[in-house]
Amino acid sequence: MHTSDACSEEGIYTLVPYQQARCSKWGIQKHNSKHVLRRKQPPKESVKMSLLRNKNKEREVATADHRAIGRQLDLYSINEEVGSGLVLWHPKGTIIRKVIRDFWEEEHLKNGYQLVCTPHIAREELWRTSGHLDYYEQNMYLFEKEGEKYVVKPMNCPFHIQIYKARPRSYRDLPIRYAEWGTVYRYERSGTLQGLLRVRGFTQDDAHIFCAPQDVLPELVRLLDFNQHMLKKFGFKEYRTYLSTKDPQHSEKYMGTEEQWVNAQSILANALKERNVVYKEIPGEAAFYGPKIDINIVDASQREWQCTTIQFDFNLPRRFKIVYIGPDGNEHEVVMIHRVLLGAVERFFAILIEHCNGNLPVWLAPVQVTILPVSTNYLHYAETIRESLLAHQIRCEVDDSTSTISYKIRQAEILKIPYMLILGKQETKLNKISVRKHKVGNLGLLTIQETVSKIKNESC
Ligand SMILES: [Zn+2]
Repeated sequence: MHTSDACSEEGIYTLVPYQQARCSKWGIQKHNSKHVLRRKQPPKESVKMSLLRNKNKEREVATADHRAIGRQLDLYSINEEVGSGLVLWHPKGTIIRKVIRDFWEEEHLKNGYQLVCTPHIAREELWRTSGHLDYYEQNMYLFEKEGEKYVVKPMNCPFHIQIYKARPRSYRDLPIRYAEWGTVYRYERSGTLQGLLRVRGFTQDDAHIFCAPQDVLPELVRLLDFNQHMLKKFGFKEYRTYLSTKDPQHSEKYMGTEEQWVNAQSILANALKERNVVYKEIPGEAAFYGPKIDINIVDASQREWQCTTIQFDFNLPRRFKIVYIGPDGNEHEVVMIHRVLLGAVERFFAILIEHCNGNLPVWLAPVQVTILPVSTNYLHYAETIRESLLAHQIRCEVDDSTSTISYKIRQAEILKIPYMLILGKQETKLNKISVRKHKVGNLGLLTIQETVSKIKNESC
């Protein structure tokens, strides 16, 4: 039964400490409860100083939490009236999602994937064939209409399989790669929900690759390169890789033949070796339906998070009879690989904003530029600048309040807006702007063209 990993839980939870980062049941890995601040006893420190120090430390921890950053930057909210674990994306959070999704879709198209779009619900029968109803029902939302039972999708795989099966496939059509920014719903006990890290409705950057056995190795190598390229773009530089294999003592627990397992495990290992990836093999950690590679990212605080999973599946191809016509004219069972690169978008988003403490790079910042006229006398010039920036698709806004310029700058710094364009008498006269960068300071007087090129270069 396909329940864990590439198409299930991996996307949604904190998988923190290195030594605890593996846990068996359903691949769920619990939040690291051991991540606590260990305070050394300060030598002869006044009570007041000690309190202040601890308070600062708490503040630091609180601001690095994605829930605090999300509130401060007005990115998303979750409320009880809508329901626990269901995320409302505010305009600024939605823009960030859109930028990530546009980038993701363009890169997938460049890499030979085909985008697909599938429904949020499907008849119970589909989930009976896939096996989810037998093994995963406690996590599924079910309802009935006119005597027919439906399931709100907990995974995208059965839909992609149906698209594959919509017509006969020849070996010449393979590999087929279907990618979808697919939103799924899974029931989680309310006590386990946590900000964006563990939710009930989330979007996976999902894809399924259908290939013939001889395509698998080059496909995996290509996938490792692609994944590296994607994660690097978000500023993650350190990864830890795991190869989850079956428990050799308990072969009876696994689907598929011994030959299939030996082949799949050695192909996964060979792909990692071909790219000189250092990895740790973990026997007994494979799902019962196939071995997998997990690539965990290490964030700025040295915490480890599982994001990428590349998972073999010996179960669904058999259940759904997914085949292709080989050169011999006969039907052959297809090799199916599930993969997510970012995991669950909500969870990735939380990791990302904690990693950069809300200081998003220019290409992701919801507002890239704020235009700060020193007084309302310069609103007209500010508006001209805004129009020029919008024409270059730079996300910007004008602070037209009557606050002082130092207050406006402070506000922009709090909102972590990458660029501040300050304009007053001198700037208007010279037809230039004073450019200030978040966390850097003044960059001097620039023309609008120079400013645009600077921001565009940084947005790539
Ligand atoms: Zn899947």
